[in-house]
Amino acid sequence: MIVSEIYTNQSIVILGLGRSGIALAEALTQSGAKVLVWDDNPDVLLKACERGLEALNRNKKDQWRGVDILLVSPGVPFLYPKIHNIILEASKAQVPIDNDIGMFFNILETTKKNFKIPPKVIAVTGSNGKSTTSSLIHHILIKAGTTVQFGGNIGKAVFELNPVQNEEVIVLELSSYQLEVAKRLSPDIAIFTNFSPDHLDRHGGVQGYFSAKKRLFDSGYSNTSIINIDSKEGLLLLNQNASSNQDSQSIRVTSGPLTNTKDWTVGCFLDRLVEMKEGKEVFSMPLKSLKNIPGVHNQENICLAYAACKAIGIESKVIKAAVKSYVGLKHRIQLVGIRHGVKYINDSKATNSDSASVALKTFKNIHWICGGEKKEEKLTNLAFNAKFVKKVYVIGEDPTEFAAQLGFDPHELCGSMEDAVKLASEEAIPGDIVLLSPAAASFDQYQNFEKRGEHFIELVKKIL
Ligand code: ADP
Repeated sequence: MIVSEIYTNQSIVILGLGRSGIALAEALTQSGAKVLVWDDNPDVLLKACERGLEALNRNKKDQWRGVDILLVSPGVPFLYPKIHNIILEASKAQVPIDNDIGMFFNILETTKKNFKIPPKVIAVTGSNGKSTTSSLIHHILIKAGTTVQFGGNIGKAVFELNPVQNEEVIVLELSSYQLEVAKRLSPDIAIFTNFSPDHLDRHGGVQGYFSAKKRLFDSGYSNTSIINIDSKEGLLLLNQNASSNQDSQSIRVTSGPLTNTKDWTVGCFLDRLVEMKEGKEVFSMPLKSLKNIPGVHNQENICLAYAACKAIGIESKVIKAAVKSYVGLKHRIQLVGIRHGVKYINDSKATNSDSASVALKTFKNIHWICGGEKKEEKLTNLAFNAKFVKKVYVIGEDPTEFAAQLGFDPHELCGSMEDAVKLASEEAIPGDIVLLSPAAASFDQYQNFEKRGEHFIELVKKIL
């Protein structure tokens, strides 16, 4: 738990009591702050009170008098689609608004002088690949013998981390919901994986979504920015970053050919990672044999992780050895098993069409299970990437609508995961792939993408 004197005696209201809200409330209480909590779900609020936290009294007059900060959890819409009453009231009362990430950076900055070798933060954002990239960095740093902690939008909330130590590295995955609220964002290394429209209702459109991601780089704090330049958003970010912050360095990552580059670049091309500096190749390693993290998209993730570890001072050969032992994360192109030459792959985390597209590009002879709660207006780029798909099996509460949008034949309207797995496994022949890569959120049928992936795994294990 992160405890700090900075907030002792401050009066703090916490809105949203998911994992990070509770961790924050308990850590701040330990730090001697006067904490009041709120959640719109009465059961959640009651549970928090049972843990000893005090609820904000919504009937009290002058509720905001004396409040020093309002902290908003990532699950609470900040401004769109509708501003929460508490955020509106606090804004009117001119109470500063922040979140756990902003507080965490604030504590780190304020206490940096107490360390002989101050801790460093590597922060990863982007539309897809955040978890894979950040967990790979974490893995490499462990293998390199670095003291490291990992959290943010994955695993531990930041206030659940252990007290930060001398010379330690903190790897944080940060979502757009976290970035849009945090007052202070001061990582030593900031990473941009890629960009495609997502969560648009929460950001008032694509510009709002990009602006939230961009905040990590706009702060002017990070010494090193590592940017995948294969999207126009990445290119723009690199350009603006280079011109606005002379003291910082940028490392470019690309999956295109590395020609005419004088800048520090790490690229993956023809199944090789190549590092270029001042126009010269300084290191390369093969990527083809890395079966646990297949696909060009994962090669890009490896380049990002390689660049981050190089920037922090790890030797190339140490990184190369560590990458080989990385086993990948659950629910991201995860091999569940093989039966009669048919591979079963769980990619339940592919909740948008871009992440499903990369899975479709990674395999051939695919029996593709997809569908669920649709996030995007159009699914057109999916049909384009589906050239190696033999058949589609559509799940979800409204498979007809999803299949119509997809416009791919042959397809089967399954609805349930049970039917989809059964049919796909009956129809697949040796050499085929049965792939769950939904291109949709899970909430119409499951609590979350993990539960959907677990269900797929359970059904596949029965077949195996
Ligand atoms: P995030 O944390 O950003 O959601 P994950 O690493 O959890 O990213 O991966 C989410 C989904 O996106 C998975 O289906 C995965 O296969 C896919 N994915 C991973 N890396 C990339 C990438 N660089 N580009 C596009 N899709 C990716």
